[in-house]
Amino acid sequence: MKLICIGRNYASHISELKNEKPEHPVVFLKPDSSVLLKNNPFIIPSFSDDVHYEVEILVKINKVGKHIQPKFAQKYYDEIGLGIDFTARDVQNYLKDKGLPWEKAKGFDGAAVIGEHWFSKSDFKDVNDISFRLEKNKDIVQSGSTSEMLWKIDELIAYVSQYFTLKIGDIIFTGTPSGVGRVDEGDILEGYIKDSSCFSIQVK
Ligand code: ZN
Repeated sequence: MKLICIGRNYASHISELKNEKPEHPVVFLKPDSSVLLKNNPFIIPSFSDDVHYEVEILVKINKVGKHIQPKFAQKYYDEIGLGIDFTARDVQNYLKDKGLPWEKAKGFDGAAVIGEHWFSKSDFKDVNDISFRLEKNKDIVQSGSTSEMLWKIDELIAYVSQYFTLKIGDIIFTGTPSGVGRVDEGDILEGYIKDSSCFSIQVK
């Protein structure tokens, strides 16, 4: 199973990190070992002083596909979830400055939260208008809607499938809206799609 992640997919987040708007989707992978195991706390790794949460809508692939056309992309997923792309921002900034790959900042153990609660696509009137949010210690820190995505779910599936064969169980992290920020020991992070809880994570 692979985790395919999209960077810079929300204009508001691009401006908060002072990044340029990309010409094409920014794509990176996380290894399967980065998945935070069920009921485990997130442990801040010793190599970072600035780990950020990034709440993201997840899409679970249910069919093998390559070179998928956007108009057929909806046939390749049934379920939508919510997760966190934990990012060691200090490590990422160092690597970005040097033009190096981001894996150490994004692919470490526990860096991928996959919420237990998945929704069926049919639970939504329009998958391009799903609202979601992240609360840190009961304060809303990020909120967004898939309507704000620069590349919509079907376009992302089509795009990434030009490079990687999509397999059953692969998960696409579709990018984060603005409001990313650091986590500290003792924080509780709770993610919601509409008003349904998708995960609750304790930071240690
Ligand atoms: Zn992200």
